[in-house]
Amino acid sequence: MRHAVIVTVDGLRRDMISRELTPHLCRFAGEAERLANYRTVFPSCTRVVSASLATGCFPARHGLQGNSVALLEDGDLVLRDAGHPDFLQHKRRVTGRSLAMPTLAERVRDHGGAIIFSNVSPGAAYAHDPDGHGHVYHRAGSFGPGRQRVADGDDLDVTLDAAGDRRMTERFVGEVFERRPAVAVLWMGEPDHIQHEVALGSLEHRAVLAQADAHVALVVDAVSRLRAAGDDVLLLVGSDHGHQTVEGVIDVDAELIAAGFKASTTSGDVVAVSNGTSVLIYMRPDQSAKLPDLRSFLQSCEWAGEVLGPDKLASVGQAPDACLAFAVSMRANDAANAFGIPGSSLAAKPAFGKPDRMGCGQHGGLGRYEQSPFMMISGPGFAAGAVREEPACVVDVAPTILAHLGLPWDEVDGRPLQSRLNDTSRRYP
Ligand SMILES: [Zn+2]
Repeated sequence: MRHAVIVTVDGLRRDMISRELTPHLCRFAGEAERLANYRTVFPSCTRVVSASLATGCFPARHGLQGNSVALLEDGDLVLRDAGHPDFLQHKRRVTGRSLAMPTLAERVRDHGGAIIFSNVSPGAAYAHDPDGHGHVYHRAGSFGPGRQRVADGDDLDVTLDAAGDRRMTERFVGEVFERRPAVAVLWMGEPDHIQHEVALGSLEHRAVLAQADAHVALVVDAVSRLRAAGDDVLLLVGSDHGHQTVEGVIDVDAELIAAGFKASTTSGDVVAVSNGTSVLIYMRPDQSAKLPDLRSFLQSCEWAGEVLGPDKLASVGQAPDACLAFAVSMRANDAANAFGIPGSSLAAKPAFGKPDRMGCGQHGGLGRYEQSPFMMISGPGFAAGAVREEPACVVDVAPTILAHLGLPWDEVDGRPLQSRLNDTSRRYP
């Protein structure tokens, strides 16, 4: 039978794959086709990437604009953490839709089904299947079709660390063997989790990276056994984004208040929403007259890298919908940290009392290294050991899987990457 297995090694930068740091991934590279210019979406954040991987669409179409967003609720803008377990259910209640495009889980519901195991935030896990078409296993709660809770004892009781990833991976391998779903997703929490806590390239980071690499090998070996048993498996191993080192933290809300664009820290007139090394700026409809001055202000800020207004959001796969007015990628450069790992960025001060992460890893913007995840694919249509130079993107994953399964991939932004179907003239925003 045909099926697809996706492994996401959260936060792993393409340039940190080496024989020394990740020997198992290097071994797999010899069995797979490697996409040398694979990129992610903007903001380069896990929840947004999860939704883009699941739908094959950029945020402009699936509607999850950030890891945190503002929603217009009862006429006022309210800051919301999209990582919250209830976020997409809340978004459906407020806007009428959880995600605005069908997910892989929905598309394969009657064709073998989907099983997702995720050890990142609950909001990112549930973005794979917010409307309950398949199975999603997460430590905050596991759901089957109809978003019914799984039976007692079937829950995923793991910690967000390498040990938890290990337990989840072992369980995943067993389930994929036994249930053989059309789509199986394993989304590990490491090395992203440790990269937010320590300096990139430090001993602690490298130790966890080695464990994540070993977890990939468990899946690669299991897929070899499935193939030996006669299954036609497409195996995709990649990451969702990379990381940059945080070299400074800017309180963008405070900047907007000081410049007179926002009334107070709690006001819903203009709301700056940190997405790590980027910030989304929402304007309540009655504030739209401020737009030209706000644009000039943002362009004058030393902390701002690329400033994308309503006319430019499409160039990064976003749209001026739901009160989103500006997306700003914080200033980034190629400077190396103390461990020689290049790529530094300013970060937007996070809300909800979350820590600043100075000197540690962060992501969300358009910096070179956070925009450099990796992807390796093995199976029909991909040449073992080959390296493909043309651009590819996380939105290509869903159509590639649907093509493998013999299902239509209509209404997606991406394209199938199998050699026979590959349309290299296609342009991304
Ligand atoms: Zn991530």
